[in-house]
Amino acid sequence: MIARFIGFLFLSFLSSALAHAGNGWSDVAYPLPGPPRVIGSYTSGCIAGAMTLPLLGDGYQVMRPSRNRYYGHPVLIGFVEWLGRQAAARGVRLLIGDLGQPRGGPMPSGHRSHQIGLDVDIWFLQQPREQPLSRLDAEQVEAPSMVRAADGALDHALWSPRDRDVLKLAAQSPDVERIFVNPIIKQALCTSEMDRAWLNKIRPWWGHDDHFHIRLACPPDAGECQPQKPLPPGDGCDTDLARWVEEIHQAALSPKPYRKPKPPSTDHLPATCDAILHGSMAWKR
Ligand SMILES: [Zn+2]
Repeated sequence: MIARFIGFLFLSFLSSALAHAGNGWSDVAYPLPGPPRVIGSYTSGCIAGAMTLPLLGDGYQVMRPSRNRYYGHPVLIGFVEWLGRQAAARGVRLLIGDLGQPRGGPMPSGHRSHQIGLDVDIWFLQQPREQPLSRLDAEQVEAPSMVRAADGALDHALWSPRDRDVLKLAAQSPDVERIFVNPIIKQALCTSEMDRAWLNKIRPWWGHDDHFHIRLACPPDAGECQPQKPLPPGDGCDTDLARWVEEIHQAALSPKPYRKPKPPSTDHLPATCDAILHGSMAWKR
């Protein structure tokens, strides 16, 4: 009992130490009020006037709410709510991963992008519409991988046609610029889809086997938002993709030790971001 209590004390100490291991951007408690303003690029920038995504809505639920990464441009918040309603109409509830921090900026862990309030992660695992998770489960339930890397194939026991449906629905939205999924998932879609035009926006990337990552385009009036290079034409179902899948397959057969990636640097943000970070001081206690 005492050992358990000491363990609890230690864990509380550790989690509060970790909570304070922020980088400034992760310590800010709420968005800078005012009209939305997107500054910089997806991997180096910030946002003023971000909106808060309610933690529970029709057809969606925010996961890991304690991370305080559920802020974004009003267009992103509207998009997630819209996608949730589409999911609800199909009887399911989407589990939402990270959006951005209250004023965007680099996160001390987890992502290079998600810095300007236009990125959102969504789990492949879905919940029945009428069964939202408890607050504790929203913190603790793990996202299962949809990929059996050692076979270089989708895990058909977990993958559902509903995952494909939500990807297609999102890809067909004009607000969506691209969607990142694991190369094995992209290749499975290349094989199964008759109409592959929508696969243009489905981009293969490392990881993304337990969630997909939706990136919205710079909103039309956001002059300080730096767009990415346009996507190459075509469905991307090519030999590069096949090679990537083979690489993942081989790596799974002879794993190398995992090296933790360095968190993104806060050094090279656009100068305006400094004013946005420090505007109307709003620090967590
Ligand atoms: Zn992401």
